[in-house]
Amino acid sequence: MSGVSISEQDVKVQHTECFIDGHWVPAKSGKTFATVNPATEKEIARVAEGDQEDVHLAAVAARKAFDEGSWSTMDARDRGRLMYLLADRMEQEIESLAALETLDNGKPYQDSLNVDLPLAIDCLRYYAGYADKIHGSTIPIRGKHFCYTRREPVGVAGQIIPWNFPILMVAWKWGPALAAGCTIVMKPAEQTPLTCLRLAQLAKEVGIPDGVINVVPGFGPTAGAAVVKHPMIDKVAFTGEHRTAQIITRESADTLKRLTFELGGKSPNVIFDDADLDSAVQGAYVGLFLNQGQCCCAGSRVFVHRSRHREFVEKLQALTEQRKVGDPFAPDTQQGPQVDLPQFEKIMSYIEKGKEQGARCVTGGTRVGDQGYFIAPTIFDEVHDDMAIAQDEIFGPVLSVLTFDDKEEIIRRANQTFYGLAAAVWTRDVALAHEFAARVRAGTVWVNCYDVFDAAAPFGGFKMSGHGRELGEEGLRAYTESKTVTVAL
Ligand code: ADP
Repeated sequence: MSGVSISEQDVKVQHTECFIDGHWVPAKSGKTFATVNPATEKEIARVAEGDQEDVHLAAVAARKAFDEGSWSTMDARDRGRLMYLLADRMEQEIESLAALETLDNGKPYQDSLNVDLPLAIDCLRYYAGYADKIHGSTIPIRGKHFCYTRREPVGVAGQIIPWNFPILMVAWKWGPALAAGCTIVMKPAEQTPLTCLRLAQLAKEVGIPDGVINVVPGFGPTAGAAVVKHPMIDKVAFTGEHRTAQIITRESADTLKRLTFELGGKSPNVIFDDADLDSAVQGAYVGLFLNQGQCCCAGSRVFVHRSRHREFVEKLQALTEQRKVGDPFAPDTQQGPQVDLPQFEKIMSYIEKGKEQGARCVTGGTRVGDQGYFIAPTIFDEVHDDMAIAQDEIFGPVLSVLTFDDKEEIIRRANQTFYGLAAAVWTRDVALAHEFAARVRAGTVWVNCYDVFDAAAPFGGFKMSGHGRELGEEGLRAYTESKTVTVAL
C-alpha cells in the first residue's frame, strides 16, 4: 500500500474472536457486539463478547504459561529477541495496522501511521532491550550472611485499556509485562478491539508461546470486572477514568491485587508574559487538539498572562480555524471524528454548558457534517475556574483560555484540581520554569513543549490521575516483585 492513498475499503478485519492459549475462539456465550466506524456510524464487524467464563479460560491459560515457565524462565535474551521480532512484524505491517486503527478509532490515518505506530514499535523495542537487564542487588547485612535481591515477574498481569490510543496502549502494557516475564490477560476497550486482536496474532506468528498473551474483548462491567476479580490474576494495570479505577480498587480488595492506574486529567498549560508566543500557541493547539482532544494529558486549561492574552487568542483562533476536520483516511485530514456517540454527546453538552455559564465561544462549538461524530475544534475564552469546562475532563476538542496576573496566583490555580497528570509552562526564565516544575502537582511537566513522549520517560499521575508509573524503568518495576534471599555463610 506504500505511497498509494488508502481508504476504508482497503482495510481487512481478520480477527474478531477471543484469543486464548494461542487459539481463536468464540465467546462461550456465543454473544457478539458491534464495533463501529465513528466516521460513518456503520458497523465494521461483530466481535466476540467475552465475559466471566472467557476471562476464566484466559486466566487459566496465562497462569499455566506463567507457572510452567515457558516465558518467565526462558533465557531472558531470547525473550527480548521475540519482543524485537514482534516490533519488526509491526513495522512490516505498519500501513495495514495504521489503517485498521483508523477504521476502528477514527483518528487520522496520517497520525496512526506517523505517531501511534512508531511510538508503539519504539516502546516494544525499548522494553525488549530490558528483558536481560532486570536484576537485583547484593546487600551487606550484619553477620556472616550473603544477602541479595532478585527481581521476579509479578505473575499474571490483567490489563484493561481504553480506546483513545488502542495500539499504543497495548505496547505500553505488553512491553514491560513481557520483558519482566509476566503473562497477560488483556481486555481491550469495547469501542476499539480490532488492532489489539491483530497484534495477538502477530505475537503468535513471531513465536511468543501460547498462553503468554490472551485477549478477551468485551465490556467493562462484565469482562473487565472478571479480570479484576479473578484469583489467578496477580496484578491489574488499568488506563481509563478515575471512577472506573475506584470501582476496580473496591472490586480487587478480596484478592489484593497489585494495581497501577493511569487516569484522567485537567492539565494546566501556563503561558507567562515572556514566552515565545508563536511556540506557545502551537503548543496549546497541539496539546489540546491532538487525537481529537481525546488525550488524558490534554492541556485543557490554558492559562495566559493577561498582558499577552488578546494576542494569544487571536493567533490560536487563526491556527485553529485552519484545522482540517473530515474523512480520517484523507491525506490532509488533521482531525477525525470522536470515538462514539456517548463521547460525542458528552462533549456537545459541555460546549452548551460553557456557553450557558458565560464563556465566550471564539470558534467552533458545533457539529461538523451530519454523519459521523465530528466536532469543530472549539475555543472558549473568558473562562473562569469555577465553570464546568474548566473543572471537568471533557475529552474532546474543546480548549479553555483563562487569564492570570502573577506567579503565586497561577501556581495555586494550576493545582486547584483533583487531577495531577501533566502540566506545561512557557517562559524564557529558566528559574521560573524550574520553580513551576517543582511546585506543580503533576506526574509530567513540559517546559516550552507539549506532548513529548518517549518510552524511556516515566508517565503517570499525582492525586486522582493515577497510581504508579508507566514507561521507563519505573514502568518495568511495576511488573516485578522483589525477593530477598539471605544465605548463611
Ligand atoms: P472511557 O471513558 O475512556 O471509556 P472507562 O474507564 O470507562 O473509560 O474505560 C476504560 C476501560 O475500562 C475499557 O476497556 C472499559 O471496558 C473498562 N471498564 C469499564 N468499566 C469497568 C469495570 N467496572 N471493571 C473493569 N473494567 C472496566
